[in-house]
Amino acid sequence: MIRGLGHFLAFVLLWTLGCAAATAQAGPVPVARVCHAEAEMREAWQDVAAQAGRWRCDGLGWTLATQSVLIRFDLPDTSDRLLPQSLITHTGNFERIDVGVIDRQGRARWASHWPGDVRHLATGPYMAIPVPGVTAETAQIAVRVVRPWGKTSLSEMRLDPLAEGGGWPLKLIVAMAAICGMLLVPLLINTAFYSVLPERYVIWHLVMVSAMLLQAAFATGFAHLLFQPEMEWEWQASNIAFSTMAGAGLLFAIHFIEGDRLDPRLRKLAARLAPLMWLVGVLASIPLEAVRPCSSLAMHLSVGVAIVMLVVAMTDAHHRGSRAVRFLIIGWTPLMAIGAWRILAHFVPTLHPTEAILPYQLSLAFEVLVTALGIVSRFVEVRQERDEATARALELEGVADRDPLTGLRNRRTIEVRFDELFRRGFRTMAVLDLDHFKVVNDTHGHATGDMVLCAVAHALADDRDTRAIRMGGEEFLLLLRGHDTAARAERCRRAISARITTEVPGLERIVTASMGLVEHDTRGNLQIDFASLYARCDQLLYEAKRLGRNRTMREKVTGFQSALAEAV
Ligand code: GH3
Ligand code: MG
Ligand code: MG
Repeated sequence: MIRGLGHFLAFVLLWTLGCAAATAQAGPVPVARVCHAEAEMREAWQDVAAQAGRWRCDGLGWTLATQSVLIRFDLPDTSDRLLPQSLITHTGNFERIDVGVIDRQGRARWASHWPGDVRHLATGPYMAIPVPGVTAETAQIAVRVVRPWGKTSLSEMRLDPLAEGGGWPLKLIVAMAAICGMLLVPLLINTAFYSVLPERYVIWHLVMVSAMLLQAAFATGFAHLLFQPEMEWEWQASNIAFSTMAGAGLLFAIHFIEGDRLDPRLRKLAARLAPLMWLVGVLASIPLEAVRPCSSLAMHLSVGVAIVMLVVAMTDAHHRGSRAVRFLIIGWTPLMAIGAWRILAHFVPTLHPTEAILPYQLSLAFEVLVTALGIVSRFVEVRQERDEATARALELEGVADRDPLTGLRNRRTIEVRFDELFRRGFRTMAVLDLDHFKVVNDTHGHATGDMVLCAVAHALADDRDTRAIRMGGEEFLLLLRGHDTAARAERCRRAISARITTEVPGLERIVTASMGLVEHDTRGNLQIDFASLYARCDQLLYEAKRLGRNRTMREKVTGFQSALAEAV
C-alpha cells in the first residue's frame, strides 16, 4: 500500500510539474509602463500625477504605510493594440478600488468598487474589476487602491483583455484540482485510522489537513465555484485557516514524535506556541486601520517562528533516534523551504511571493501524503507493539493461571475475570462433565485418563468468542458470546466423543459428556455473579446426568425471568 501511494505521488508530481511548465505563455494586455505612487486620501490623482518624482516604474517598493496606493497603466501608442476590459489582481482585502479611464486629452472617467462587488475568479486566486469603455483614444488606466491589506493585490495587478478576466490556463487548473484531491486522501486515511488508532496526533493531522484544504480552496480560487464570499470574509477565513494549519502542524509534530524522543522543554514550548499562532491569525484578521499595516507582517513572522520551532524540534528528535521524525523531515522540508522563501519575499522587494503558489500547493500535497505514510507506518508499529505485549501477557498468564495437564485456563482465572468477560458479552455458560469417567481410569489406568482429558481440552479450544476452562477433575466450563451460543456449545459437547476416539485409541466404549447451560438475553444489562450462574449450570448438569447422561439441559434467561429448563 505504501509503495502504491509512493508511485501515485511521483506520478502526480511529474505530471503537475509538466502542466506548470506548459502554462508560462498566458499573459495580460501589454502595457507601455506600469508605475505606482503612495498617496494620502486627501491628495487628488492629478496632483500626484503631476509630481513625477513620486512615481516608481520598476515594479518594486510596494508599501502599506500610506492610506492609498495609486497605480498607473500607460497604454502603448499603437493602433493594433489589445484593449483591456478588466483589471485583475491577487485576492486581498481593501476598503475601495477606484478605476479611472483617461484619454489623450486628459479627460478621466472614474468608477468606484467595493469589496462586496468585485468578482472572484474560480480559476486562480484572483479578483476581477470591469474596466468598460476603453477605446483607441484611451491613454491610461488609473487605479487608486484605498487601504490595501496585502502587497500582492498591488504588485500583481494587471489589465486583462476579457471582460470577465482570465485566470489560470486549463492545465494548471487541472493540476491544482489534482493537488486538492490529494489533500482528501489523508482525510480519509486519518478518519479510518482513528477508530483503531485513537492517538492525539491523528486528530491534529486531521485538523491540519482540513485547514490546508480550506486554505487551498481559497488560494486556488476553487472555493469560488461554490460561492462568492465577501472579500473581507474570505481574507479572514483564509488567514485563520493558515494559522490553524501552522498551529495544528506544531501540535501534530510533538505528538507524532515518540514520547521519549523529544526534549520535554521543546514539547512544552511548541504546545504553548500553537495556540499563539492561532491567536495571531485571529488578531491579524481584525478589520481595523490600526491593524492593517502590520497584519501581513504578523502572519509572516508567526509562520517564521513555527518553522524555527519545527526545525529545532525535528533536529532534537533526530539526534535522539526518533523513527517517526524521519517522515516529518522528508514531508516538511519542501514546505518549510517555501514558507521561508515566502517570508523572505515579503521583505525583499525583488522577489514575487506569488511565484511560489504552485510549488507551495505541491509541497502541501507532498507533505500530507508523506505524513499519511508516516501515520500508516506508525500504525503498523503500534499494532506490532500491542500484539507483542498481548502475547507476553498471555505467556505470563499461562504460567500462573493455566491448568498444567490440559493447558486450559483454571478455575481461579475465571473466577477473577468473570465479571469483565460477562461485560464483554460472554453471557452463556456451559458446565460439562464426562460420563462415567471413573470407569476409564479404572479400566485403562490414570495415564489414559489424562490423555482423555487432554483430548477434551482440544475439543473445547478457545476462539475469539469462546473461553474454555478446566474447573477440576473431568469437569469443564465454557463461556460463549455472539450468535447461537447454545448451538455452538452443543457442537463442542458432541465433538468431545469424536476427539477422544481419535486421540485415545483402544477405549472399548465411547466417552460422552453431559452439559448444563444457561444462556442470557444479550440485550439485557443485568449483571450476575459467577457463583450463582455456575450453581445454576451445575443444577442443570445434575439434571442431565439424572435423565440418563450424554445430553444437555439448558435454560434461557430473558431479562430477570428464566424460562423453563428443556432437554436437548
Ligand atoms: P459421572 O458420569 O456421574 O460424572 O461419573 P464419573 O465417573 O465421571 O464421576 P466421578 O466424580 O465419580 O469420577 C470422577 C473421576 O475423575 C474420579 C477421579 O479419579 C478422576 N479424576 C479426577 N481428576 C483426574 C485427573 O487429573 N486425571 C485422571 N486420569 N483422572 C482424574
Ligand atoms: Mg463425570
Ligand atoms: Mg465430576
